[in-house]
Amino acid sequence: MSASLATVSYLGAIILFILSLGGLSNPETARRGNLYGIAGMTIAVLATVFGPRVTLAGIPWIVGAMLVGASIGLLAAKKVQMTQMPELVALMHSLVGLAACLVGFASYVDSSVAFSGAEKVIHEIEIYVGIYIGAVTFSGSIVAFGKLSGKIGGKPMLLPGRHAINLVGALVVIYYGYAFLQAPSVEAGMPALIVMTAIGLLFGIHMVMAIGGADMPVVVSMLNSYSGWAAAATGFMLSNDLLIVVGALVGSSGAILSYIMCRAMNRNFISVIAGGFGTGDGAKAGAGGQAPQGEVTAISAVETAELLREAKNVVIVPGYGMAVAQAQHTVYEITKLLREKGVNVRFGIHPVAGRMPGHMNVLLAEAKVPYDIVLEMDEINDDFPDTDVSMVIGANDIVNPSAEDDPASPIAGMPVLQVWKAKTSIVMKRSMASGYAGVDNPLFYKDNNRMLFGDAKKMLDEVLAALKG
Ligand code: NDP
Repeated sequence: MSASLATVSYLGAIILFILSLGGLSNPETARRGNLYGIAGMTIAVLATVFGPRVTLAGIPWIVGAMLVGASIGLLAAKKVQMTQMPELVALMHSLVGLAACLVGFASYVDSSVAFSGAEKVIHEIEIYVGIYIGAVTFSGSIVAFGKLSGKIGGKPMLLPGRHAINLVGALVVIYYGYAFLQAPSVEAGMPALIVMTAIGLLFGIHMVMAIGGADMPVVVSMLNSYSGWAAAATGFMLSNDLLIVVGALVGSSGAILSYIMCRAMNRNFISVIAGGFGTGDGAKAGAGGQAPQGEVTAISAVETAELLREAKNVVIVPGYGMAVAQAQHTVYEITKLLREKGVNVRFGIHPVAGRMPGHMNVLLAEAKVPYDIVLEMDEINDDFPDTDVSMVIGANDIVNPSAEDDPASPIAGMPVLQVWKAKTSIVMKRSMASGYAGVDNPLFYKDNNRMLFGDAKKMLDEVLAALKG
Protein backbone atom coordinates (compact mmCIF):
# COMPACT_ATOMS: atom_id res chain seq x y z
CA MET A 1 0.00 0.00 0.00
CA SER A 2 1.40 3.40 -0.91
CA ALA A 3 2.00 6.07 1.72
CA SER A 4 -0.74 8.30 0.34
CA LEU A 5 -3.32 5.50 0.36
CA ALA A 6 -2.37 4.72 3.97
CA THR A 7 -2.84 8.40 4.87
CA VAL A 8 -6.26 8.52 3.19
CA SER A 9 -7.26 5.32 5.03
CA TYR A 10 -6.12 6.86 8.32
CA LEU A 11 -8.22 9.93 7.60
CA GLY A 12 -11.22 7.70 6.88
CA ALA A 13 -10.64 5.80 10.12
CA ILE A 14 -10.39 9.05 12.11
CA ILE A 15 -13.71 10.28 10.69
CA LEU A 16 -15.32 6.93 11.56
CA PHE A 17 -13.97 7.17 15.14
CA ILE A 18 -15.43 10.65 15.54
CA LEU A 19 -18.80 9.41 14.18
CA SER A 20 -18.50 6.49 16.57
CA LEU A 21 -18.06 8.76 19.59
CA GLY A 22 -21.00 10.86 18.40
CA GLY A 23 -23.15 7.72 18.11
CA LEU A 24 -22.15 6.45 21.55
CA SER A 25 -23.46 9.61 23.21
CA ASN A 26 -27.04 8.38 22.91
CA PRO A 27 -28.43 4.88 23.63
CA GLU A 28 -30.54 4.92 20.48
CA THR A 29 -27.56 5.53 18.21
CA ALA A 30 -25.03 3.56 20.29
CA ARG A 31 -25.28 0.43 18.14
CA ARG A 32 -24.53 2.45 15.02
CA GLY A 33 -21.70 4.17 16.90
CA ASN A 34 -20.20 0.78 17.70
CA LEU A 35 -20.41 -0.26 14.05
CA TYR A 36 -18.59 2.92 12.99
CA GLY A 37 -15.94 2.15 15.59
CA ILE A 38 -15.49 -1.43 14.37
CA ALA A 39 -15.24 -0.25 10.73
CA GLY A 40 -12.75 2.47 11.69
CA MET A 41 -10.59 0.04 13.66
CA THR A 42 -10.62 -2.52 10.83
CA ILE A 43 -9.47 0.12 8.33
CA ALA A 44 -6.85 1.39 10.79
CA VAL A 45 -5.39 -2.09 11.39
CA LEU A 46 -5.35 -2.98 7.68
CA ALA A 47 -3.80 0.35 6.68
CA THR A 48 -1.09 -0.10 9.32
CA VAL A 49 -0.29 -3.74 8.60
CA PHE A 50 -0.20 -3.26 4.82
CA GLY A 51 1.13 0.29 5.06
CA PRO A 52 4.55 1.53 3.96
CA ARG A 53 6.20 1.08 7.36
CA VAL A 54 5.77 -2.69 7.63
CA THR A 55 8.09 -4.91 5.60
CA LEU A 56 7.02 -8.29 4.26
CA ALA A 57 9.25 -10.04 6.81
CA GLY A 58 7.30 -8.37 9.61
CA ILE A 59 3.87 -9.67 8.54
CA PRO A 60 4.15 -13.19 10.10
CA TRP A 61 5.08 -11.58 13.45
CA ILE A 62 2.10 -9.27 13.28
CA VAL A 63 -0.27 -12.08 12.29
CA GLY A 64 1.08 -14.24 15.13
CA ALA A 65 0.64 -11.42 17.66
CA MET A 66 -2.88 -10.70 16.39
CA LEU A 67 -3.85 -14.36 16.69
CA VAL A 68 -2.65 -14.49 20.31
CA GLY A 69 -4.31 -11.15 21.15
CA ALA A 70 -7.59 -12.05 19.42
CA SER A 71 -7.75 -15.45 21.19
CA ILE A 72 -7.23 -13.83 24.60
CA GLY A 73 -9.84 -11.19 23.71
CA LEU A 74 -12.37 -13.80 22.58
CA LEU A 75 -11.80 -15.91 25.68
CA ALA A 76 -12.18 -12.89 27.96
CA ALA A 77 -15.37 -11.76 26.18
CA LYS A 78 -16.85 -15.25 26.62
CA LYS A 79 -15.79 -15.76 30.25
CA VAL A 80 -16.11 -12.33 31.82
CA GLN A 81 -19.41 -11.68 33.58
CA MET A 82 -21.21 -8.39 33.05
CA THR A 83 -20.43 -7.48 36.68
CA GLN A 84 -16.71 -7.93 35.99
CA MET A 85 -16.74 -5.46 33.09
CA PRO A 86 -15.41 -2.51 35.12
CA GLU A 87 -12.41 -4.59 36.27
CA LEU A 88 -11.82 -5.77 32.72
CA VAL A 89 -11.88 -2.19 31.45
CA ALA A 90 -9.36 -1.21 34.15
CA LEU A 91 -7.13 -4.10 33.11
CA MET A 92 -7.37 -3.03 29.44
CA HIS A 93 -6.31 0.50 30.40
CA SER A 94 -3.26 -0.96 32.12
CA LEU A 95 -2.28 -2.67 28.86
CA VAL A 96 -2.38 0.65 26.99
CA GLY A 97 -0.05 2.09 29.64
CA LEU A 98 2.27 -0.90 29.42
CA ALA A 99 2.35 -0.60 25.61
CA ALA A 100 3.33 3.08 25.88
CA CYS A 101 6.20 2.15 28.24
CA LEU A 102 7.46 -0.66 26.02
CA VAL A 103 7.23 1.41 22.83
CA GLY A 104 9.08 4.21 24.64
CA PHE A 105 11.99 2.00 25.66
CA ALA A 106 12.05 0.36 22.22
CA SER A 107 12.16 3.68 20.36
CA TYR A 108 14.93 4.90 22.68
CA VAL A 109 17.20 1.93 21.99
CA ASP A 110 16.20 1.71 18.29
CA SER A 111 19.31 2.72 16.38
CA SER A 112 17.72 2.41 12.93
CA VAL A 113 16.16 5.88 13.14
CA ALA A 114 18.74 8.54 13.95
CA PHE A 115 17.61 12.02 14.94
CA SER A 116 19.82 15.02 15.44
CA GLY A 117 19.53 18.56 16.77
CA ALA A 118 16.08 19.82 17.74
CA GLU A 119 14.40 16.69 16.34
CA LYS A 120 16.43 14.52 18.70
CA VAL A 121 15.42 16.64 21.69
CA ILE A 122 11.75 16.55 20.70
CA HIS A 123 11.89 12.78 20.14
CA GLU A 124 13.49 12.25 23.54
CA ILE A 125 10.93 14.48 25.27
CA GLU A 126 8.20 12.40 23.61
CA ILE A 127 9.85 9.23 24.92
CA TYR A 128 10.30 10.59 28.45
CA VAL A 129 6.77 11.97 28.78
CA GLY A 130 5.24 8.97 26.97
CA ILE A 131 6.89 6.44 29.29
CA TYR A 132 5.89 8.48 32.35
CA ILE A 133 2.21 8.67 31.36
CA GLY A 134 2.34 4.97 30.42
CA ALA A 135 3.85 3.96 33.77
CA VAL A 136 1.28 5.96 35.80
CA THR A 137 -1.56 4.51 33.70
CA PHE A 138 -0.21 0.97 34.00
CA SER A 139 0.23 0.79 37.77
CA GLY A 140 -2.78 3.02 38.53
CA SER A 141 -5.05 0.81 36.43
CA ILE A 142 -3.75 -2.35 38.11
CA VAL A 143 -4.62 -0.89 41.53
CA ALA A 144 -8.03 0.22 40.19
CA PHE A 145 -8.56 -3.34 38.96
CA GLY A 146 -7.74 -4.60 42.47
CA LYS A 147 -10.12 -2.12 44.10
CA LEU A 148 -13.00 -2.77 41.70
CA SER A 149 -12.67 -6.54 42.02
CA GLY A 150 -12.46 -6.32 45.80
CA LYS A 151 -8.93 -7.78 45.90
CA ILE A 152 -7.76 -4.51 47.45
CA GLY A 153 -9.94 -2.80 50.11
CA GLY A 154 -11.88 0.29 49.02
CA LYS A 155 -10.52 2.33 51.92
CA PRO A 156 -8.24 5.21 50.88
CA MET A 157 -4.61 4.69 51.89
CA LEU A 158 -3.40 8.00 53.27
CA LEU A 159 0.35 8.12 53.85
CA PRO A 160 1.53 10.87 56.17
CA GLY A 161 2.83 13.77 54.07
CA ARG A 162 1.46 12.28 50.89
CA HIS A 163 1.33 15.61 49.05
CA ALA A 164 4.99 16.22 49.93
CA ILE A 165 5.88 12.73 48.67
CA ASN A 166 4.14 13.47 45.35
CA LEU A 167 5.88 16.82 45.07
CA VAL A 168 9.33 15.33 45.71
CA GLY A 169 8.55 12.60 43.15
CA ALA A 170 7.58 15.23 40.55
CA LEU A 171 10.78 17.21 41.19
CA VAL A 172 12.94 14.07 40.84
CA VAL A 173 11.17 13.23 37.55
CA ILE A 174 11.89 16.76 36.23
CA TYR A 175 15.52 16.60 37.41
CA TYR A 176 16.10 13.24 35.70
CA GLY A 177 14.29 14.51 32.62
CA TYR A 178 16.94 17.19 32.31
CA ALA A 179 19.72 14.63 32.87
CA PHE A 180 18.10 12.34 30.28
CA LEU A 181 18.09 15.05 27.61
CA GLN A 182 21.74 15.89 28.33
CA ALA A 183 22.89 12.25 28.13
CA PRO A 184 25.44 11.79 25.31
CA SER A 185 24.52 8.16 24.57
CA VAL A 186 21.69 5.65 24.99
CA GLU A 187 23.65 3.87 27.74
CA ALA A 188 24.09 7.15 29.63
CA GLY A 189 20.40 8.09 29.33
CA MET A 190 19.03 4.71 30.36
CA PRO A 191 19.43 5.07 34.18
CA ALA A 192 17.43 8.32 34.16
CA LEU A 193 14.71 6.63 32.12
CA ILE A 194 14.57 3.70 34.54
CA VAL A 195 14.43 5.91 37.67
CA MET A 196 11.62 7.98 36.11
CA THR A 197 9.69 4.83 35.16
CA ALA A 198 9.97 3.53 38.73
CA ILE A 199 8.68 6.84 40.12
CA GLY A 200 5.85 6.84 37.55
CA LEU A 201 4.85 3.32 38.64
CA LEU A 202 4.94 4.27 42.34
CA PHE A 203 3.00 7.47 41.67
CA GLY A 204 0.26 5.52 39.84
CA ILE A 205 -0.08 3.15 42.82
CA HIS A 206 -0.03 5.97 45.37
CA MET A 207 -2.56 8.08 43.46
CA VAL A 208 -5.21 5.37 43.12
CA MET A 209 -4.59 3.88 46.59
CA ALA A 210 -5.35 7.31 48.10
CA ILE A 211 -8.77 7.49 46.46
CA GLY A 212 -11.50 5.49 48.05
CA GLY A 213 -15.15 4.60 48.34
CA ALA A 214 -17.61 6.56 46.27
CA ASP A 215 -14.87 8.49 44.43
CA MET A 216 -13.85 5.42 42.40
CA PRO A 217 -16.02 6.33 39.35
CA VAL A 218 -13.85 9.40 38.86
CA VAL A 219 -10.71 7.25 39.01
CA VAL A 220 -12.10 4.85 36.42
CA SER A 221 -12.91 7.65 33.96
CA MET A 222 -9.64 9.43 34.75
CA LEU A 223 -7.59 6.31 33.96
CA ASN A 224 -9.65 6.00 30.79
CA SER A 225 -8.45 9.49 29.91
CA TYR A 226 -4.82 8.67 30.85
CA SER A 227 -4.90 5.59 28.63
CA GLY A 228 -5.87 7.89 25.74
CA TRP A 229 -2.97 10.24 26.45
CA ALA A 230 -0.65 7.21 26.75
CA ALA A 231 -1.82 6.08 23.29
CA ALA A 232 -1.30 9.61 21.92
CA ALA A 233 2.21 9.63 23.41
CA THR A 234 2.87 6.29 21.69
CA GLY A 235 1.66 7.91 18.45
CA PHE A 236 4.18 10.72 18.86
CA MET A 237 7.01 8.24 19.53
CA LEU A 238 6.11 6.20 16.44
CA SER A 239 5.24 9.28 14.33
CA ASN A 240 1.83 7.72 13.75
CA ASP A 241 -0.82 10.41 13.15
CA LEU A 242 -3.73 8.03 13.57
CA LEU A 243 -2.60 6.97 17.03
CA ILE A 244 -2.09 10.61 18.03
CA VAL A 245 -5.60 11.62 16.96
CA VAL A 246 -7.31 8.54 18.40
CA GLY A 247 -5.34 8.88 21.65
CA ALA A 248 -6.35 12.52 21.90
CA LEU A 249 -10.01 11.58 21.25
CA VAL A 250 -9.97 8.98 24.05
CA GLY A 251 -7.95 11.27 26.33
CA SER A 252 -10.23 14.26 25.96
CA SER A 253 -13.49 12.29 26.08
CA GLY A 254 -12.22 10.56 29.25
CA ALA A 255 -11.39 13.95 30.73
CA ILE A 256 -14.88 15.24 29.90
CA LEU A 257 -16.38 12.09 31.46
CA SER A 258 -14.31 12.63 34.63
CA TYR A 259 -15.63 16.19 34.79
CA ILE A 260 -19.22 14.98 34.32
CA MET A 261 -18.75 12.33 37.04
CA CYS A 262 -17.31 14.92 39.42
CA ARG A 263 -20.20 17.27 38.76
CA ALA A 264 -22.70 14.45 39.23
CA MET A 265 -21.14 13.70 42.61
CA ASN A 266 -20.79 17.36 43.52
CA ARG A 267 -17.07 16.89 44.00
CA ASN A 268 -14.14 19.03 43.05
CA PHE A 269 -11.85 17.27 40.56
CA ILE A 270 -8.67 18.42 42.28
CA SER A 271 -9.84 17.26 45.71
CA VAL A 272 -10.74 13.85 44.26
CA ILE A 273 -7.24 13.49 42.80
CA ALA A 274 -5.74 14.67 46.09
CA GLY A 275 -7.50 11.66 47.59
CA GLY A 276 -8.77 10.78 51.02
CA PHE A 277 -12.47 10.74 50.27
CA GLY A 278 -14.61 7.70 50.98
CA THR A 279 -14.17 5.20 53.74
CA GLY A 280 -15.15 1.66 54.61
CA ASP A 281 -14.61 -1.56 52.74
CA GLY A 282 -18.15 -2.05 51.53
CA ALA A 283 -18.98 -4.60 54.21
CA LYS A 284 -19.41 -2.87 57.50
CA ALA A 285 -21.96 -0.17 58.01
CA GLY A 286 -21.88 3.10 59.88
CA ALA A 287 -18.54 4.48 58.76
CA GLY A 288 -18.56 8.16 59.64
CA GLY A 289 -21.66 10.27 60.15
CA GLN A 290 -24.50 9.40 62.49
CA ALA A 291 -25.62 5.79 62.72
CA PRO A 292 -29.29 5.61 61.71
CA GLN A 293 -31.77 4.64 64.40
CA GLY A 294 -35.00 2.69 64.44
CA GLU A 295 -36.39 -0.49 63.03
CA VAL A 296 -36.76 -1.72 59.51
CA THR A 297 -40.02 -3.09 58.14
CA ALA A 298 -39.76 -6.14 55.92
CA ILE A 299 -42.22 -6.85 53.12
CA SER A 300 -42.94 -9.99 51.11
CA ALA A 301 -42.91 -10.41 47.34
CA VAL A 302 -46.69 -10.87 47.31
CA GLU A 303 -47.23 -7.63 49.27
CA THR A 304 -44.84 -5.86 46.91
CA ALA A 305 -46.87 -7.08 43.94
CA GLU A 306 -50.04 -5.75 45.57
CA LEU A 307 -48.51 -2.32 46.13
CA LEU A 308 -47.32 -2.21 42.53
CA ARG A 309 -50.67 -3.30 41.16
CA GLU A 310 -52.48 -0.56 43.05
CA ALA A 311 -49.98 2.15 42.11
CA LYS A 312 -50.48 4.76 39.38
CA ASN A 313 -46.89 5.96 39.27
CA VAL A 314 -43.89 3.70 39.86
CA VAL A 315 -40.20 4.65 39.66
CA ILE A 316 -37.62 1.87 39.54
CA VAL A 317 -34.09 2.71 40.72
CA PRO A 318 -31.56 0.05 39.74
CA GLY A 319 -28.08 -0.24 41.25
CA TYR A 320 -25.10 -2.53 41.38
CA GLY A 321 -27.15 -5.38 42.94
CA MET A 322 -29.33 -5.59 39.82
CA ALA A 323 -26.18 -6.21 37.80
CA VAL A 324 -24.97 -8.86 40.27
CA ALA A 325 -28.31 -10.65 40.24
CA GLN A 326 -28.71 -10.19 36.45
CA ALA A 327 -32.28 -9.17 37.22
CA GLN A 328 -32.73 -6.70 34.34
CA HIS A 329 -34.83 -9.07 32.20
CA THR A 330 -37.27 -9.83 35.02
CA VAL A 331 -37.40 -6.10 35.80
CA TYR A 332 -38.53 -5.49 32.24
CA GLU A 333 -41.10 -8.33 32.37
CA ILE A 334 -42.61 -6.67 35.45
CA THR A 335 -42.47 -3.25 33.77
CA LYS A 336 -44.29 -4.56 30.69
CA LEU A 337 -46.98 -6.21 32.78
CA LEU A 338 -47.58 -3.10 34.88
CA ARG A 339 -47.66 -0.84 31.83
CA GLU A 340 -50.26 -3.11 30.23
CA LYS A 341 -52.35 -2.59 33.37
CA GLY A 342 -52.04 1.19 32.92
CA VAL A 343 -49.36 1.86 35.56
CA ASN A 344 -46.89 4.59 34.64
CA VAL A 345 -43.52 2.91 35.19
CA ARG A 346 -40.26 4.81 34.74
CA PHE A 347 -36.62 4.26 35.63
CA GLY A 348 -34.38 6.69 37.53
CA ILE A 349 -30.68 6.36 36.72
CA HIS A 350 -27.99 7.81 38.95
CA PRO A 351 -24.82 8.81 37.11
CA VAL A 352 -22.60 6.60 39.31
CA ALA A 353 -25.00 3.66 39.75
CA GLY A 354 -23.25 0.31 39.37
CA ARG A 355 -19.53 0.04 38.87
CA MET A 356 -18.88 1.88 35.61
CA PRO A 357 -20.29 4.92 33.84
CA GLY A 358 -23.46 3.95 31.96
CA HIS A 359 -23.60 0.53 33.69
CA MET A 360 -27.36 0.60 34.28
CA ASN A 361 -28.17 2.00 30.83
CA VAL A 362 -26.27 -0.89 29.24
CA LEU A 363 -28.14 -3.50 31.30
CA LEU A 364 -31.56 -1.96 30.64
CA ALA A 365 -30.81 -1.62 26.92
CA GLU A 366 -29.78 -5.30 26.91
CA ALA A 367 -33.18 -6.17 28.39
CA LYS A 368 -34.81 -3.98 25.68
CA VAL A 369 -36.36 -1.46 28.09
CA PRO A 370 -37.60 1.47 25.92
CA TYR A 371 -35.28 4.48 26.22
CA ASP A 372 -38.07 6.99 26.72
CA ILE A 373 -38.93 5.59 30.18
CA VAL A 374 -35.28 5.58 31.33
CA LEU A 375 -34.62 8.99 32.90
CA GLU A 376 -31.54 10.63 34.38
CA MET A 377 -31.47 11.60 38.06
CA ASP A 378 -32.03 15.30 37.33
CA GLU A 379 -35.02 14.53 35.12
CA ILE A 380 -36.86 12.42 37.68
CA ASN A 381 -35.87 13.66 41.13
CA ASP A 382 -38.67 16.25 41.32
CA ASP A 383 -41.28 13.58 40.50
CA PHE A 384 -40.85 11.43 43.62
CA PRO A 385 -43.48 13.31 45.72
CA ASP A 386 -46.04 12.30 43.06
CA THR A 387 -44.83 8.71 42.95
CA ASP A 388 -46.78 5.92 44.64
CA VAL A 389 -44.04 3.31 44.78
CA SER A 390 -40.30 3.78 44.29
CA MET A 391 -38.65 0.40 43.89
CA VAL A 392 -34.91 0.27 44.63
CA ILE A 393 -33.30 -2.79 43.10
CA GLY A 394 -29.86 -3.57 44.54
CA ALA A 395 -28.93 0.10 44.97
CA ASN A 396 -27.65 1.65 48.15
CA ASP A 397 -25.24 4.63 48.06
CA ILE A 398 -27.18 6.37 45.28
CA VAL A 399 -30.38 6.49 47.38
CA ASN A 400 -28.76 7.36 50.71
CA PRO A 401 -30.49 10.39 52.33
CA SER A 402 -27.51 11.00 54.61
CA ALA A 403 -25.73 12.47 51.56
CA GLU A 404 -28.24 15.34 51.90
CA ASP A 405 -28.97 15.42 55.64
CA ASP A 406 -25.75 14.52 57.43
CA PRO A 407 -22.79 16.83 56.83
CA ALA A 408 -20.56 14.32 58.67
CA SER A 409 -21.38 11.52 56.25
CA PRO A 410 -18.51 10.46 53.98
CA ILE A 411 -20.83 10.92 51.00
CA ALA A 412 -22.19 14.31 52.15
CA GLY A 413 -22.95 16.58 49.21
CA MET A 414 -23.36 13.81 46.65
CA PRO A 415 -26.74 14.25 44.91
CA VAL A 416 -28.92 11.17 45.35
CA LEU A 417 -32.24 9.86 44.03
CA GLN A 418 -34.85 10.97 46.61
CA VAL A 419 -36.80 7.72 46.64
CA TRP A 420 -37.99 8.31 50.23
CA LYS A 421 -40.22 11.14 48.98
CA ALA A 422 -42.50 8.60 47.26
CA LYS A 423 -45.57 7.36 49.15
CA THR A 424 -43.83 4.03 49.70
CA SER A 425 -40.27 3.05 48.91
CA ILE A 426 -39.25 -0.60 48.64
CA VAL A 427 -35.58 -1.56 48.87
CA MET A 428 -34.64 -4.91 47.41
CA LYS A 429 -31.35 -6.31 48.72
CA ARG A 430 -30.08 -9.38 50.52
CA SER A 431 -29.12 -7.94 53.90
CA MET A 432 -28.47 -4.73 55.82
CA ALA A 433 -24.93 -4.52 54.43
CA SER A 434 -23.70 -1.17 53.18
CA GLY A 435 -22.85 -0.32 49.56
CA TYR A 436 -19.54 0.42 47.86
CA ALA A 437 -18.84 3.56 49.95
CA GLY A 438 -19.29 1.58 53.19
CA VAL A 439 -21.85 4.03 54.62
CA ASP A 440 -24.95 3.03 56.60
CA ASN A 441 -28.23 4.04 54.97
CA PRO A 442 -30.99 5.78 57.01
CA LEU A 443 -33.47 5.17 54.15
CA PHE A 444 -33.95 1.60 55.41
CA TYR A 445 -35.33 2.89 58.73
CA LYS A 446 -37.83 5.41 57.36
CA ASP A 447 -41.51 4.85 58.20
CA ASN A 448 -42.59 4.68 54.57
CA ASN A 449 -39.81 2.31 53.58
CA ARG A 450 -40.12 -1.45 53.22
CA MET A 451 -37.28 -3.95 52.84
CA LEU A 452 -37.66 -6.87 50.45
CA PHE A 453 -34.78 -9.08 51.53
CA GLY A 454 -33.31 -11.60 49.09
CA ASP A 455 -31.47 -11.94 45.81
CA ALA A 456 -32.95 -9.37 43.42
CA LYS A 457 -33.57 -11.87 40.60
CA LYS A 458 -35.24 -14.39 42.90
CA MET A 459 -37.42 -11.78 44.59
CA LEU A 460 -38.42 -10.18 41.30
CA ASP A 461 -39.34 -13.60 39.89
CA GLU A 462 -41.64 -14.02 42.89
CA VAL A 463 -43.11 -10.54 42.41
CA LEU A 464 -43.69 -11.31 38.72
CA ALA A 465 -45.41 -14.61 39.58
CA ALA A 466 -47.62 -12.83 42.12
CA LEU A 467 -48.50 -10.11 39.59
CA LYS A 468 -49.47 -12.76 37.04
CA GLY A 469 -51.39 -14.80 39.58
P1 NDP B 1 -23.92 0.06 46.05
O1 NDP B 1 -22.62 -0.61 45.91
O2 NDP B 1 -24.02 1.27 46.88
O3 NDP B 1 -25.01 -0.95 46.62
C1 NDP B 1 -25.33 -2.12 45.97
C2 NDP B 1 -26.21 -2.96 46.88
O4 NDP B 1 -26.65 -4.07 46.12
C3 NDP B 1 -25.48 -3.51 48.07
O5 NDP B 1 -25.79 -2.79 49.24
C4 NDP B 1 -25.93 -4.97 48.16
O6 NDP B 1 -26.57 -5.20 49.40
C5 NDP B 1 -26.92 -5.11 47.01
N1 NDP B 1 -26.76 -6.37 46.30
C6 NDP B 1 -25.64 -7.00 45.92
N2 NDP B 1 -25.89 -8.14 45.30
C7 NDP B 1 -27.24 -8.26 45.28
C8 NDP B 1 -28.12 -9.25 44.78
N3 NDP B 1 -27.69 -10.36 44.18
N4 NDP B 1 -29.45 -9.04 44.94
C9 NDP B 1 -29.91 -7.94 45.57
N5 NDP B 1 -29.11 -6.97 46.05
C10 NDP B 1 -27.79 -7.14 45.90
O7 NDP B 1 -24.43 0.33 44.56
P2 NDP B 1 -25.10 1.63 43.91
O8 NDP B 1 -25.36 1.26 42.50
O9 NDP B 1 -26.21 2.12 44.77
O10 NDP B 1 -23.95 2.72 43.98
C11 NDP B 1 -22.74 2.59 43.25
C12 NDP B 1 -21.56 2.78 44.16
O11 NDP B 1 -20.39 2.29 43.49
C13 NDP B 1 -21.33 4.24 44.48
O12 NDP B 1 -20.76 4.38 45.75
C14 NDP B 1 -20.31 4.62 43.40
O13 NDP B 1 -19.55 5.73 43.75
C15 NDP B 1 -19.46 3.34 43.35
N6 NDP B 1 -18.73 3.15 42.10
C16 NDP B 1 -19.32 3.47 40.91
C17 NDP B 1 -18.62 3.36 39.73
C18 NDP B 1 -19.26 3.82 38.45
O14 NDP B 1 -18.55 4.20 37.54
N7 NDP B 1 -20.58 3.78 38.35
C19 NDP B 1 -17.23 2.83 39.71
C20 NDP B 1 -16.73 2.44 41.02
C21 NDP B 1 -17.47 2.62 42.15
P3 NDP B 1 -26.66 -6.71 49.99
O15 NDP B 1 -25.26 -7.18 50.10
O16 NDP B 1 -27.35 -6.52 51.29
O17 NDP B 1 -27.47 -7.50 49.02
